Formats: sequence, structure tokens, C-alpha cells
Amino acid sequence: MTLHRLTAHEARDLLRKGEITSTELTEAVLRRIEEVEDKVKAFLTLTPEVALTHAAEADRRLEEARKSGTQDTLPDLLGIPLAVKDVISTAGIRTTCASRILHNYIPPYDATAVARLRAQGAVIIGKTNTDEFAMGWSTENSAFGPSHNPWDLSRVPGGSSGGNAAALAADETIIAIGSDTGGSVRQPASFCNHVALRPTYGRVSRYGLVAFASSLDQIGPMTKDVTDCALVYMAIAGHDPNDSTSVNRPVEDVTHHLVPEIKGIRVGVPQEYFGEGIEPDVADVVLKAVRQLEEMGAIVEEISLPLTRHSIPVYYLIATAEASANLARYDGIRYGYSAEAETLWEYFMRTRGEGFGPEVKRRIILGTYALSAGYYDAYYLRAQKVRTLIRREFDQAFEKVDVIAGPVTPVVAWPIGWAMENPVQAYLTDLLTLSQAIAGLPAMSVPAGFTQGLPVGLQLVGRAFDEATLFRVAYAYEQTTRWGEQRPAL
Ligand code: GLN
Repeated sequence: MTLHRLTAHEARDLLRKGEITSTELTEAVLRRIEEVEDKVKAFLTLTPEVALTHAAEADRRLEEARKSGTQDTLPDLLGIPLAVKDVISTAGIRTTCASRILHNYIPPYDATAVARLRAQGAVIIGKTNTDEFAMGWSTENSAFGPSHNPWDLSRVPGGSSGGNAAALAADETIIAIGSDTGGSVRQPASFCNHVALRPTYGRVSRYGLVAFASSLDQIGPMTKDVTDCALVYMAIAGHDPNDSTSVNRPVEDVTHHLVPEIKGIRVGVPQEYFGEGIEPDVADVVLKAVRQLEEMGAIVEEISLPLTRHSIPVYYLIATAEASANLARYDGIRYGYSAEAETLWEYFMRTRGEGFGPEVKRRIILGTYALSAGYYDAYYLRAQKVRTLIRREFDQAFEKVDVIAGPVTPVVAWPIGWAMENPVQAYLTDLLTLSQAIAGLPAMSVPAGFTQGLPVGLQLVGRAFDEATLFRVAYAYEQTTRWGEQRPAL
């Protein structure tokens, strides 16, 4: 058996039966990393000792439960290898945000999402590559070099959670958590053929997630299938008093919705998601997926979301404004990189000048400009107003439909280097993942097939706090199509 290929729920069943141990599973994953990591470069930090300690703990819990016949009451993710995007704090484990400015930062505490996964007994195997501070689409903005897409090593795995995406496609981990500010779990999932969920804003605690744009950031699961996505989501969702934007409202058990039954569910297909700028072959793959949903009993209707085209300027004003404030704390004094300098002013200038990469600097400058006196009303305030309109447009759509379906991105994974030479065009590829974040809605990416030998994802968007319907549709679709089971020939 090739253990590193297992999903978390398959591994869970074998662990409970005593057919494998967490130590064996973890060792298999670590061996796989040794075999392919040279080519994939998914990880910034590997933690084999931590992982084997966690695995041994899990094995003790499993063994005891088996003796007393209570193994079915154990947490689902006990003993399961987990990769954590390097913008999410892990106590005692270096957390760099793929930035030179945090190259030596070791957090004293775990993010709530990590603490909850650890409480279940998940096994941390390492920290994964990302665009610097999660700003980007390809992991090319990482200060430590890009990750590679296992489907074609000359291409990007997407981003910013590209390290997770590459690791999952190469079977270098079983599950992962990333962050999505404007698409960063969904787009890489689409580029690498696996599942990812951006939860409703406020559903998962941001405590310990290094802030990029606080009103948009959400932590989300990245997994090999929909069932695993539900298990990770259930582990991390729920109120946290440490995050003032975390919502105190019960979490519906989405695992009850993993049933292949979608008769009568109304699926809206926005014409704007298939229009200008969307590669025709990507649109074809996704339209086929929509027809499949219809064959399975969903009621498909065309809808219109004309404000979609404003999502790029709105997002890039709000996200950069918030980033410019959030990144003010990196001054070299409290933590991270510090430059040599004679005066305090020179010290700040050099620390930030040498510590941040070009994309981060671009965004701090843009955000500072948008917030400055005289421009605030014209840019930031206006963007916030359009944000409200975008939210209303979704509310109106959800009066008629239960789910919105479309592509995740207008393109397939691009060659390494392209975004660096065409940053403005790269911003435009965010067209289909920004408006859901702007409106705070849950959205999922599910494997939907291939074009040019590269994966394409189907995006499903739901009402706020209705992750359950997304899981239902995604699961039903996955069970009939099974695109996610395909693996690259690495
Ligand atoms: N591509 C978007 C950006 O560059 C989204 C990134 C994200 O979701 N973290 O900001």
C-alpha cells in the first residue's frame, strides 16, 4: 500500500482498525517528501522530529482506545499528517510568511486553527511556501523561490497557498490549511487538482493568522477530497473569543451533507463568469461540470452579476489599504529582520527596504496612497461603498438560487516567470475569486477536469454560513466524476 496517497478519512479508518500506525503513515509521507521535494519545493520548513513525536502520541491514543473498544469516538484527524501555510502561526516552529523580514521568527503560540487541529491529534509535518505575506497568485513572490506545479514542473502551482497545493498534488501531505484573502486556497486548488474551501468570513478564527487584509482574510482547508475538506472544516470552524470578528453561532455538522443527492438544488450560473477574459477551453470544462449537475437533478439557471468587473479595483484598494496598516508593525525592533544603521530613521528605512520584497512594497505604497488625506474619499471610501453593492448583488442572486457555479480562474496554471513579467495581467486573473471574499461568502474549488493536460476547478459559492449546501453539491459532483483522484506522473 502506498500510504502517502491515502486521504485522511481512508487513513483514519485504517488507523482505527490498527492496520496502520500514525508513525508508519508519517514516515511514508516524510519518505515521499524526500523523494520529490527537490523538484516540487513545496515546503519552507520541514519538522520531521515534531511530526514523529506527534505521531507517537497519536499511536498511544489509538492503542488505548482500541483496548477499550472506543476507537470510533476518537477525533477524525488523529494521527493525520498536516501541512500548514507559512502565514499561520505555529508555536515553536518558524513562521516566515515567505518574507525576509520574518526569516527567523518563531511564534510563541499556535493559531487557533492549528491549536484545534493539534487538539484532534493532527501531525504537523512542516510549513509550506506562499507568496510573501500571501500577496500573489503563484508563490513566485516568495523570498525563498517559487514552488513547482507537480502537473508540469515548469509551471506555477498557483498561490498564494501554492506550497500546500503542490504538496497535496505530489502526495507530500495528507491534509493542509491555507489562507484565502481573495482566492488563495481556491485558485491553487484549481491549478493542482484538489479541493479547497474558503469559509464564510468569521466562521474560522483568524487568531494567529498573520494579517494581510483583516476584513478579507480567512483560513481554509485544502485537501485531496471533499470528505477530508469537511473533516478539516469541522475541526477548525467555530467561535473564538481571541478573534473579535469570529462569529458566535453554532457550526452545522457538514458531514451529514456528504450525500450524493442534489435534486431540486438551484444552481445559478453567472454569465459574467464565462465572458470576456475567460479562456474558452476553461469555460468549456466548467460548463460541462454544470451540465453534469443538471443531469444529477439540480435546477440550473443563468443569472447575472454585473458588478463582478468592479471586484478587482475594489479588492486591490481595500486589501492594500489594510495591508499598509497591518504591515506597519514590521519595524525590525520587535521581531524579525533588523538592518544595520546609524540613526533610527535609517534603521526603519533599511529594515523595511531590505526586508520586504517588491510586491509587498508595491502594495504598501498603493494602500498608503489610498488612505491618505485627500484621496481617502475618492478611493478607499468609494471602494467600501461598492463593496456593499457587491454584497447586495449576491444577496439578490441568492433569493433565486442556492448555489452559484462557475470557474475558479480564467486560466490554467501559467509558466513560472509569466506573472513576474506581466503583473497587471496577473492581477486580472483574480477576477473570479475576489467578489466572494469582498462579500464574505463561502466558496469552494472542486476538481472538474483537464485542458491542455492541466487541471481545472469548478467554483461553488454559497450563502453566508451555508457551507453545508456547498459540501452537498461538491460531494455529489465528486462522487459521479472523481476527477480529484487523478495524480500527476511526477
Ligand atoms: N491574488 C490575490 C492577491 O494577490 C489574493 C491573494 C490571497 O488570497 N491571499 O492579493
